[in-house]
Amino acid sequence: MNHDTERALDKAAAILAGARSVIAFTGAGISAESGVPTFRGAGGIWERYDERHLELGYFRAHPELAWPTIRDIFYAFASPDGERPPFQPNDAHRVLAAWEQQGILNFTVTQNIDGLHAAAGSRRLSEFHGTTATLSCMRCGARVPSARELLETLPPRCPCGGIYKPDFTFFGEGIDPAASSSAYDAARKADVCLVIGSTGLVYPAATIPRVVAGGGGTVIEVNPEPSTFTDDITGVFLPMGASEALVALDRRLRGTATP
Ligand code: NAD
Repeated sequence: MNHDTERALDKAAAILAGARSVIAFTGAGISAESGVPTFRGAGGIWERYDERHLELGYFRAHPELAWPTIRDIFYAFASPDGERPPFQPNDAHRVLAAWEQQGILNFTVTQNIDGLHAAAGSRRLSEFHGTTATLSCMRCGARVPSARELLETLPPRCPCGGIYKPDFTFFGEGIDPAASSSAYDAARKADVCLVIGSTGLVYPAATIPRVVAGGGGTVIEVNPEPSTFTDDITGVFLPMGASEALVALDRRLRGTATP
């Protein structure tokens, strides 16, 4: 790690230690090290799949075409040809959950739908774009866990005959009001926002760090590549992967950083 990055980590840790209320805002990049592909960038989902399959209008019109893509990306554990186990949280998710327990982190707003923050133990959490963990019937509204058996034959069907839709927000679909209001409440109270692995291209989610910055708060950003936040609102940029950065910050906050 070069000297500039070490200094940026020291500065970020000092800001976190002195903060009144810290929120984390996470994007697909925090789950990349858990094996969940990002949408954009090298190896991103859009290099392999048709983006329309996650548009609400397309899904409603062609669930039989969209569902195989959705299963392949987010429910690979249920693919007949896939031996891949369900995704697991990584060190970055675990550090955020531990910081919540320790009172270092007040709230997490995630754009991710993979459930990995909840699996790591985060409880003060807004899953801004919903979750892959449950499915709802488009005909009768019944909500069920995303069990492997349900996804073996596509599109998955409710006993009423309706087709299930995953409980995540499709392109063209509104944000869940409870997820939205808890995220904005936390952002308005925060004086520090730790942005991890987001391009900042998806709205309205990308307004969350901007609410913190607009209120005079500091934005610390973790991303191997600059994002739309970097030159705009980022105060301290950590050009690193999520786990490496979070573990390095955690060591500093615990006073155990190796020089
Ligand atoms: P994105 O896919 O547009 O961009 C990913 C970002 O992560 C990029 O800026 C990239 O440089 C960065 N990144 C890559 N590897 C990283 C690493 N190891 N550590 C830290 N950062 C890393 O993601 P987005 O901005 O979150 O927007 C995409 C939308 O897609 C969001 O709404 C999100 O809900 C959804 N999405 C979710 C998942 C998931 O649930 N895991 C996966 C793909 C997309």
